[in-house]
Amino acid sequence: SVTLPKPDRRRMLTIANQKGGVGKTTTAVNLASALAVQGLTVLVVDLDPQGNASTALGVPHHSGIPSSYELLIGQSTAREAVQQSPHSERLFCIPATIDLAGAEIELVSMVARENRLKNALTDAFLNEIDADFILIDCPPSLGLLTVNALVAANEVLIPIQCEYYALEGVGQLLRNIELVKSHLNPELHVSTVLLTMYDGRTKLADQVAEEVRGHFGDAVLRAVIPRSVKVSEAPGYGMTVLDYDPGSRGAMSYLDAGRELAARTASTKAQEN
Ligand code: ADP
Ligand code: MG
Repeated sequence: SVTLPKPDRRRMLTIANQKGGVGKTTTAVNLASALAVQGLTVLVVDLDPQGNASTALGVPHHSGIPSSYELLIGQSTAREAVQQSPHSERLFCIPATIDLAGAEIELVSMVARENRLKNALTDAFLNEIDADFILIDCPPSLGLLTVNALVAANEVLIPIQCEYYALEGVGQLLRNIELVKSHLNPELHVSTVLLTMYDGRTKLADQVAEEVRGHFGDAVLRAVIPRSVKVSEAPGYGMTVLDYDPGSRGAMSYLDAGRELAARTASTKAQEN
């Protein structure tokens, strides 16, 4: 397959939308897989206690193994918590276990509670695994776990489901991003919006797509992820759709999205300078 050029510098994206079921986790694992298939090295940090991203990447995440929970509370280093996905030598995952469910509360009283993920993902570690992209899968809330992700990464990727009330809650997400930007992470910006679960047979899907493009402009990827049974079946086999059915429309669309995302490196950099 086509090999993508390595980005000039490492990119870290937080995949956030406090609405559940919009395709955050599906996007995290399939985009990661799409980038890895095309030659880049990717780390997925699973910050959802459900651990669905870990499952889809085929990575064990039973209670007690070093995970994002131990990482956040300072009981494990990233090096101790990271695992390689059995599907690709370029795909790594720091899994989430159910222990993470209590972290939101445990973190409240901790020192530098918003910076713990950023501090744990050290340059030395990221250099060691040679990560080109880090994708952080957030839980469906705007609590301290998501704030940690927004402090660690400079880019936000918002998946938006092409359904009724697509933009519901996005205003609140944007206000939180602004708050984190002004107080904790001045480089933070919404670099990418991805339309998910698009059903081309409905007028509604097109209306939503148009509304989102009107709102976010060039941040919206041209690639759109179709609603597809293969995409939803893949995690049941501990796979991404790229492993489960590489020729499917779902797999193709995530490959397109990955290519487009990677191609944006230069322009993102230009914007920031
Ligand atoms: P979130 O992480 O935002 O809660 P998920 O990625 O878990 O959302 O997706 C919610 C549900 O929708 C899951 O069951 C997933 O398999 C399914 N799903 C996600 N994307 C698609 C798609 N493109 N086509 C069909 N089903 C999808
Ligand atoms: Mg999820």
